[in-house]
Parts: sequence; structure tokens; C-alpha cells
Amino acid sequence: MSQTLEHLSVSTIGHHIGGTSITDSERFGPVYNPATGEQTGQVALASAQTVREATTTAAAAQRGWRRLGLAKRSQILFTVRQLIDERRAELGAIITAEHGKVLSDADGEIVRGLESVDFCTGLMHHLKGEYAEQVATGVDVHQTRQPLGVVACITPFNFPAMVPLWMITTAIAAGNAVILKPSERNPSAANWIASIFEEAGLPAGILNVVHGDKEAVDEILANPGITGVSFVGSTPIAKYVYSTAAANGKRVQALGGAKNHMVVMPDADLDAAADAAISGAYGSAGERCMAVSVVVAVGSIADELVAKISERIPGLKVGDGTHPDSEMGPLITAAARDRVAGFIASAQEEGAEVLVDGRNQHFDSNGYFIGVSLVDHVKPGMRVYDEEIFGPVLAVVRVDDYAQAVELINSNRFANGTAVFTRDGKTAREYEFDIEVGMVGINVPIPVPIGAFSFGGWKDSLFGDTHMYGPESFNFYTRRKVVTSRWPDPSESQIELGFPTH
Ligand code: NAD
Repeated sequence: MSQTLEHLSVSTIGHHIGGTSITDSERFGPVYNPATGEQTGQVALASAQTVREATTTAAAAQRGWRRLGLAKRSQILFTVRQLIDERRAELGAIITAEHGKVLSDADGEIVRGLESVDFCTGLMHHLKGEYAEQVATGVDVHQTRQPLGVVACITPFNFPAMVPLWMITTAIAAGNAVILKPSERNPSAANWIASIFEEAGLPAGILNVVHGDKEAVDEILANPGITGVSFVGSTPIAKYVYSTAAANGKRVQALGGAKNHMVVMPDADLDAAADAAISGAYGSAGERCMAVSVVVAVGSIADELVAKISERIPGLKVGDGTHPDSEMGPLITAAARDRVAGFIASAQEEGAEVLVDGRNQHFDSNGYFIGVSLVDHVKPGMRVYDEEIFGPVLAVVRVDDYAQAVELINSNRFANGTAVFTRDGKTAREYEFDIEVGMVGINVPIPVPIGAFSFGGWKDSLFGDTHMYGPESFNFYTRRKVVTSRWPDPSESQIELGFPTH
């Protein structure tokens, strides 16, 4: 949906390359306030040539950056942390204006993003190598970690600050230069973050923001100057990015979509489980890759649990994210809202029971609002179960026992997050052992790991092998080099054509 919008008095959101804002572009895309439906900006959409120029700029800057002392790099990240924390409200307002999520939720994503910055301030520790003395007589071996060079970070709309911070902070801490290609639907947070990094002392050219769509991404995937690609987004695009970048010889991690199941065992506290289901399903209008989209009710508690979830729904306040009493905002686009409505219609047609129909809630606004929905008696094979909805729709699947719950979840192609609600330690421990999902919550509905661990799903929720942020991220953004050294006395030198052994 690109167009030139010069006739409209909206602000132009340009690229940020080499420390400079660049608004020239042959193509622009519209940016909306989802709470009002008004166009608030136009974002430059990069051509392949713009990506090439940014890559050249980044490569030149990276040569100096990797030589800078680690203590100085660390100091810059401490300052980044302080500046973002001091101006959280400013960034939160930008997120809400272009994404729609409520201000408290926008603040939450900033706080979680700052965990990555916290972790990276200890970069000197994370970049330490290894050393083995005397592996053979007079021979020592050590391993160092060196940056990849220029890496690209391609991010989704639903966390316009947190996901970029997950990626760029580690990439930069490890000595790389970055091309950040944020979602074109809410591009402003990325520019704000780039300015903060430079205000904190990051040299120009280390963090470049290139806005765009498929044209920009395709150049990133092909450009030989970019050696690593981190991606977060939907599964079809994650697969495409993974296979194309890997075929072009790049290191790539591509995180995809999700369908997260929350199992409620018969011994669980049903009030706590109902609260958790509501929070996990409808927070951020369900536009979270760790949202609870399916409650799996085990055994005889299903009716009581569904009743408890239903009775909580009328109390939820859906409205403009800038209003202090709103708990859930609009969806990102009109198309996303209509797609969610389509899932409710299909659920009815396919025999599920729509207990609460979000399409019935009226909003006095042109924003992309839809109420929350609760759908019971959902089964695999129905669209509402098989596909990622990415909206405020909670499906309930009823199963007889624990084994059926595990079988259901392990048969799903997505495997990002899951949770079990129980008061029995043995069941919790078995669930952790049995379940084939990357991130597990025990009485925790949205188990996003703290910044000192790493984030990632399994199966169709992640292509590649390294998870994001935390320790695994330092593995992703560095190449290990192993050095074997010997300092012999010249008098011991001799010719030896055999393969070296100990
Ligand atoms: P998306 O896949 O549409 O877009 C992600 C990025 O890819 C954007 O930067 C976009 O510009 C680019 N892109 C879109 N279409 C492309 C194409 N045809 N070719 C090349 N690049 C393309 O995802 P989205 O709608 O922005 O985000 C929502 C999705 O992200 C959901 O599926 C959600 O589950 C997923 N997500 C996953 C995680 C995770 O950690 N696994 C986290 C957040 C979001």
C-alpha cells in the first residue's frame, strides 16, 4: 500500500543512516493512529539502493567500533539505559500513537526491552573467551569472540521498542554495526531509539534505521555486506527470511508466529487461572506472540472455569490507549480487525460456541476497535484453532486428562510458549519435561524469560537455532576464533610432514 502523500499535511518519517535523517524516497507508506483511524504520518520506503548505501555506511563505521575498548562500549550502554529510562513516557507515547496499545502496556514493553540493555552493560563478561593451557607440551589454545560485521534486524509491529532493543543492543555490544528495518506500520519508535543511542555516545553509522517493505528486506537478504540477519514476525515471512538468507550464506535466526496453550488442571485455583487467562489473552488486544490464545480445560472443571472467565469479561475496558482507564486498545489496522471478525464467524460456522462475540461491541470511533471474544468447544481442524489469530480471541478446548492436553499441544505446529496451572508440583514437573514448546510457564501465563536467559520457541515458531537476547544472543552476534600457540626454542625446530598430534 505504498503511495506518495505529498498532498496530505502529515509528518514524514525518514530513515536514520549514518546519524542523519533521510526523508528522500520514491515510495512512502501511510502511518495511522489505530485509535482514531487518522493518518498521522508517511514513512519512507527504502529502495534496494538505499539499503546498499546504509550497508556501506555501517561497514565503514563498524571498523572503528570493533576497535573501541569494551569498557567504553559498556559505558555507552549504561548511558542508553539511563536516557531511555528517564524518557520512558516519551517513547511510550510514540508507541501508543502508532500501535494503539495502552500506555501502561507500552511502558511495560520498554521496561522489558531495558532488560536487554541491562544484560549487555555486562558485555565484557559476555565477550570473554576461553583458554586451555598446555594442551600439548608447550602448546596453549584460546578462543576469542569477534563481531560478524554488519547485521540486519527486521522487526514486527507488535513490539516496536522491545524487539528492536532485544536485537540491536546485543549486536552493538558485540561490536557489530546494525541495519534496523522496523515494521513500516509503526516506524517512529525505532528512530527515537537510534537518536538516544547516538546521544549516549554511539558513533554515527553503528545503528542505522532503514524503513521499508519487501523491497528493503529482499536487498538485506541478498546483500553480501550483511553477514547476519535477526528476524521476528509471522511464520510465513520467518520461513522466507530464514531460507533466503541462509541460501545466501548468512547466519540467520528467524522467530515466527505462535498459538500458546494454557493448560488448567483440575486441581488449579480456578479464580487465579481465570484472571491469568483474561490477562494473557486480551492484553495488548492479543497482539503478542506470547498471548494465551487457547485455554485447555482438563477434566470436570471446564464449565466452572469458562463461567469464571466469562463473568470477568464485561468488566474489561476497551478504548483509546491514551485514556488512563483503558485496559485494551484497538488492533493495528482495519484489515487486522476485520480478519479477527472473520475468525469469529468461521468459529460459529464450524460448530464452536461463541460465548462472547467481540463483533457486537459498539465503539464510537473510527479506530480499529473490536471487543474481546470467548469461544468454547473449539477443536483442532477449526480455523479458530489451527491459525494464529493475533487478536483478542480466546479459544477453549476441553480434554479429559493430562495426557490428552500434552498430546494436543505437542501436535501443534507452533511451539512458542505454554503454561500449566496446577497446585501439584509433580504435574508441573512432568509438564515441563513432556511439553515440546520453547518457553514454559508454571502458574505464569506469559513466560517471557528475564533478560539474563534467552527467548525463543520451537518448531514453526523459530527457524534457525539460536534464541534471542541474553547469552544465546552473544553467540549469534559473534564468531568464535580458536588460536593454537606455541613459543618453541628455535633450536627445537624440525620438518614434520605428518598430521600434527599431541
Ligand atoms: P510480519 O511477518 O508481517 O512482518 C515482520 C517484518 O517482516 C516487518 O518488518 C515487515 O516489514 C517484514 N515483511 C512483511 N512482509 C514481508 C515480505 N513479504 N517479505 C519480506 N519482508 C516482509 O509480522 P507482523 O504482522 O509485523 O508481526 C506479527 C507477527 O509477528 C505475529 O505472527 C507474531 O506472532 C509474530 N511475533 C513473533 C514473536 C516471537 O518472538 N516469536 C514476537 C513478536 C511477534
